[in-house]
Amino acid sequence: MAFKITDDCISCAACESECPNKAISEGDEFFVIAPDKCTECVGFFATQQCAAVCPVDCCVADEEHKETKEQLLAKFAKLNPGKQPK
Ligand code: SF4
Repeated sequence: MAFKITDDCISCAACESECPNKAISEGDEFFVIAPDKCTECVGFFATQQCAAVCPVDCCVADEEHKETKEQLLAKFAKLNPGKQPK
C-alpha cells in the first residue's frame, strides 16, 4: 500500500529528496505523498525511505491505499520504464 504523511508533519522537508519515486511534495498544510507514485519503496529499497528519515515518525502505511507486492511492482515498472527492480 502507499504510504501517507499524517498531520503530525512539521514540514521539515527531510523526506522529499529521499523518495525514489518523487512522490512527496509540499502540500497546503504539510508535506503529502501522491499515492499513485508511492511504491512503498518496492523496487528500490527494502524499507520506506521517508519513514526512515522522518524525525516525528509521521510517514505511515495508508490503509485506504492497500496494494499487493505485485501491484506495487507493476506501479514501479510503470513509473520507472526500463529499470529493473532491486
Ligand atoms: Fe516515496 Fe518510498 Fe515514502 Fe513511498 S514509501 S513516499 S516510494 S519514500
